[in-house]
This record gives sequence, C-alpha cells and structure tokens, in this order.
Amino acid sequence: MRHAPFAVLVVLLVSALEPAPSAQNAPATSVTVVKPARVFDGDAMHEGWAVRVKGDRIDAVGSAASVTAADARIVDLPGTTLMPGLVGGHSHVLLHSYNETSWNDQVSREGLALRAARAVNHLRATLTAGFTTIRDLGTEGAQYADVELKQAVNQGIIPGPRMLVSTKAIVATGSYQPKTFVLQWTIPQGAEEADGVDSLIRVVRDQIGKGADWIKMYGDYRWGPLPGSHPTFSLDEMKLAAETAKSAGVPIAVHANTAEGMRRAALAGVETIEHGGEGTPEVFKLMAERHVALCATITAGAGPWPPVNPDSPAAQRKRASFKAALAAGVTILNGSDVGTFPHGDNARELEAMVAYGMPIVDTLKSATSVAARVLHMENQIGRVKEGLFADLVAFDGDPTRDISALRRVKFVMKNGTIYRQP
Ligand SMILES: [Zn+2]
Repeated sequence: MRHAPFAVLVVLLVSALEPAPSAQNAPATSVTVVKPARVFDGDAMHEGWAVRVKGDRIDAVGSAASVTAADARIVDLPGTTLMPGLVGGHSHVLLHSYNETSWNDQVSREGLALRAARAVNHLRATLTAGFTTIRDLGTEGAQYADVELKQAVNQGIIPGPRMLVSTKAIVATGSYQPKTFVLQWTIPQGAEEADGVDSLIRVVRDQIGKGADWIKMYGDYRWGPLPGSHPTFSLDEMKLAAETAKSAGVPIAVHANTAEGMRRAALAGVETIEHGGEGTPEVFKLMAERHVALCATITAGAGPWPPVNPDSPAAQRKRASFKAALAAGVTILNGSDVGTFPHGDNARELEAMVAYGMPIVDTLKSATSVAARVLHMENQIGRVKEGLFADLVAFDGDPTRDISALRRVKFVMKNGTIYRQP
C-alpha cells in the first residue's frame, strides 16, 4: 500500500510522456479495413473503395464490397480521400524556422543535443501532417544526427516518417558558411568541404560509410566578389562524385540555382537538382533528356506562403523558372526545403506548385507515385497497392479538386501503425 501513490505517479508520468498523438502499434497479424469516401491510389481516383491492411502491408484494395472485413478493425473515414502517405523530397529536420533563429545562429550557437531534441518534435509534426517519407538533405552542421534520428524512428523510439538521409552534405572549399568570423579563425562549416580527386572520393565514401542514403552536393552557392550564386564544383568533380557514389548504389542530389551549376549537374549524371531558380529552357530540356528530376522548393525560406508580394521580382523569377521546367517536361519531385519554415507546414509546397500552373493530379503524383520512383522506392511506397507498405493518409474533402484539402488531415498510418485518426 505504501507504494500505491508511487504507482499512480508512474502511470501519470507514462501517460504524460506518450507521444501526442499516440500511436497504436499494429501486431504483425492485425487486420484493419479503412473505409474512406474515395481512394486516390497514386495515379487516379476511385469512388467507394476501401483498403485492407495486414501487419505493415497493404493487403487488398478495391470496392468496399470486395474488401472483406471479417475480424478486422474497421476505421470509418466518411467524407475523406485516402491516399498514399505523402513524400517530402527536400527537408532539413535539424533546422527550425529562420523566423525563429537565423541559419548562422542555429549552426554556430545551438548544440547537437538541443538540435536533436527539436528534430524529434519536427519528425512528429511531419508525420502527423501526412508526410510518411522524407529525404533529408543535410544536417547543416549537426554531424550525423540524421542517421541516428532515422535509427530512433526505425526502432520505434520516436514517431516519425521513413527517412532517407544524406549526413553532412558536400561543399567546395571556401564556398559555404558561416562566413562572418575573423579570417584567422578556422570555422567549422555547415557542410563538409571536399575538392578534387582524392578528397572528393574519400568524403563521398566516408559519408556513405556513415549511413548516407543520398549524397548531397552544392553545385553552386553565393560566393566570390559578385552578387548572387556562382558555380562551385567543376563538371569533372561532379562526375567523379556521381561515379563514386553510384558504385555503392547511392544517388546524388545537387543544390544548384544557376543555369551553369544545373547544366554541370545534369551532365555529371546526378539524379535530382534542388532549387533550380535560374533554370533556362535549355537547361530544363537537358534535365528532361537525361531524366534528372527537379525539387523546385518554391516555398523555401522564412517568408510566408502565399508571399506577401506575389509580384515581386523574386516571386516572378521563381514562377517563370518553374513554368519553364513544366514546359520542358522535367520530372518534378515534391520538396520544399522545410526547416527554413516550420515543420508540419510541408503541404504549402504542393499549394505553390498548383498556384504556379502544375495540374493538380500531377502535383499529387509528385508527392506519391512519382516521388517513389525518383527515390527508387516504387516497390515499397507511393501507391495504394497490394503488397506495398501500409503508408496511408486521409484528408477531409477531395485534394484532386481543392489542394487545400491537404491541410485537413484526418488519418495517418505508417507501416500499418495509426498515428492519427478522428
Ligand atoms: Zn535545403
């Protein structure tokens, strides 16, 4: 009896520590039937469909009458559209909004454990916003914390999306930042410097050895005496990195805003180009021919979406370059650079793509079936299809008619485990 109050306290503590919202773990044999109003399967809409989930996999998909439900847990989701879990192709879970703290101060004044603690919240916010897979493109000074956060998610220690990680990212010596300190100080950079044959090969291999699923390189950056971005790595350096990574089955993503940086990346055999803000019709044509996808990150940065001034020169340039990419037939991978703005607000990139002229169903594919293909995960995720992982999300309304439905998340399942439901 003396211990009763302690036991009560433990129960209270445990319930207070549960991740909110709490997850319901699915045993391997558990069967769930999800009954939305309609299913967007990653390609097309199907009215009146239901989905059966067994363990961590999608077990059956089809008309509600054909998907039997004996002994299954039933999740009724009237009025909703069920979709494959959304994919974010360009995130930084170890950054928080630049509105709160500048990049410089995050990298140089916030310690590793502090940043990892924030990232735990970011991962939960991402998952409960309906994003069940992310490709995280660089820890920005937080070492290999992305690899370890991925382990924490995969071991069920914290809730979060499936993660593809890239560790430190690679920059050319002298091109990156922080830059604001006295020159006699050697300042650790927000990414790993490498150049030329020996050091590039070693750093690419080292990052792969540490757990990088993708290599991220900066093909240009704001450096040198002139304003704006300028190319960094030579074509030969990028080719070397791409070839080295390819040996291990690791693809390369290149940050490039300048047409020349993009051209070198496309010719070097990289798989995605990030940002592409100054892309020309010629360079987008080259990307389309060489099957290089674009992560446009239209909504990157601390500014709000929609922008306060949609007709500013910067917004006009971004809109024009995105339209040129669409016109050239470039494959678009949804990716927002979230982390520069708050995690959980990831859907704003899809709203931006629609606002800038991308057909709404193509926009949804860029975050589901097309995203899975670009990330080499089409046999695991990206469609509501028998045999794939049960990553399923439901939104109130129909996002193929109104993209803002993506803001009305009603249901999130990852690997057969429910993280959010009405
Ligand atoms: Zn980024």
